[in-house]
Amino acid sequence: MNNAGNGARPRSLSVENLEKAYRSGKPVLKGISFQVEGAITLGIIGPSGSGKSTMLRCINRLIEPTAGRIVVAGQDVAGLSGTALRHARRHIGMVFQEFNLVERLSVIENVLCGRLGYISPFKAWLRKYPQEDIDKAFALIDHVGLGDFYNQRADSLSGGQRQRVGIARAVMQEPDIIMADEPTSSLDPKTSVEIMELLRQFSRERDIPMLVNIHDVELAKRFCDRIIGISQGVVVFDGPPGELTTSDLKAIYGGEDWLA
Ligand code: ADP
Ligand code: MG
Repeated sequence: MNNAGNGARPRSLSVENLEKAYRSGKPVLKGISFQVEGAITLGIIGPSGSGKSTMLRCINRLIEPTAGRIVVAGQDVAGLSGTALRHARRHIGMVFQEFNLVERLSVIENVLCGRLGYISPFKAWLRKYPQEDIDKAFALIDHVGLGDFYNQRADSLSGGQRQRVGIARAVMQEPDIIMADEPTSSLDPKTSVEIMELLRQFSRERDIPMLVNIHDVELAKRFCDRIIGISQGVVVFDGPPGELTTSDLKAIYGGEDWLA
């Protein structure tokens, strides 16, 4: 087990009766509950519009939940704001479908961005990182297979390489959980497999939960230890991939659409 500087913080997430309605419309999440701890890769599947992204955005408080409790590493994040929220958020690593890298910065600079929440605002403005962080960033870049590319600008990389940078940046935060929103949707099948492999590997090495929103059921079954199926803002399946039946898939996706 690698404690990666997190001391005794439990690597856990607890979501209880999470509800979300956007200001304009009807409820999107209607009472989602689950707990996850340690080295689990948790796949969240469900049709487009079922609320998967909304759920991740609530967990790292990019948006406000309407109701419910969210406890990350033992801390209830629901009531936090300002500095306390920023501090809580730096322990939640995010990986995005469109990578969200700083295009004009190099690989090493993008990875170091994962440390920005840890240094003083003035040093952050100067991007003045401690040597220890720089050493860690180089080690991570090697680890994700980009050792020869550390000084290349993000906009010169392929999609798979960019996602590797995105993952290294998230791990650089020394997070208690990592959440990835459709991390392979813009990648080809072979690269998607490599990226899922890498995510699962980090979950195991660091002993942290990896939540992955994923629309490819086969990929979810292959790489996830546990799958949650969401349909219209409700959890309709929660269990190991081996227990996911055709009728579960019908409940999640409706009809036979998932076969397409
Ligand atoms: P998924 O990630 O599963 O495709 P989303 O969480 O993106 O689902 O969307 C769930 C529902 O919430 C959809 O009906 C979508 O239109 C709606 N929605 C998402 N974001 C917003 C927003 N910012 N304002 C209003 N409605 C939104
Ligand atoms: Mg989404």
